[in-house]
Amino acid sequence: MSLAIYPGSFDPITNGHLDILCRAVHIFDRVIVAVLRNTTKTGLFTTDERVAMIREVTAGIPGVTVESFRGLTADYARLKQATNLIRGLRAVSDFDAELRIALTNKRLNPQLETVFLMTSSEYLFLSSSTVREIASMGGDTRGMVPDLVAERLVQKFGRQSAVVCET
Ligand code: ADP
Repeated sequence: MSLAIYPGSFDPITNGHLDILCRAVHIFDRVIVAVLRNTTKTGLFTTDERVAMIREVTAGIPGVTVESFRGLTADYARLKQATNLIRGLRAVSDFDAELRIALTNKRLNPQLETVFLMTSSEYLFLSSSTVREIASMGGDTRGMVPDLVAERLVQKFGRQSAVVCET
């Protein structure tokens, strides 16, 4: 059984993440979506909320499980006996950071290979931070995130446009 870990913040999960995940399950028998529990940074959604949303939206995808972890991804992978990490790449601007992360993980856990999947073109400019920004100003995030996530964003921020005209 081949196993890969797809680590990230997923605050919140977007259709870009889901696209990468759906493609990863064609390559690996099992994929663990691993939500990094960040102890220094508070996100929009709590880790438990993120895990619950991801579980709901991935319930129909065979081979996917969802967990959270704290600590080093390299150690988490060792614990899970996984030798592959999935990461998505969007623009060239992702490359520097991803290369640094992949090489650091390799140094910490030499068995670990990072497998990069290229984003699909419709998700090239989609990120969790863009989604958070749009939702915080009352914008519509449907089509960018699963419907369930779009609803949770409306519950958090409401749907009122926050435009104020200033002279
Ligand atoms: P991090 O918090 O580590 O920046 P995220 O939780 O935002 O990461 O994303 C996890 C992984 O998903 C990263 O590899 C990131 O590059 C990838 N990713 C995020 N958005 C997209 C997208 N629209 N298309 C493809 N990959 C994406």
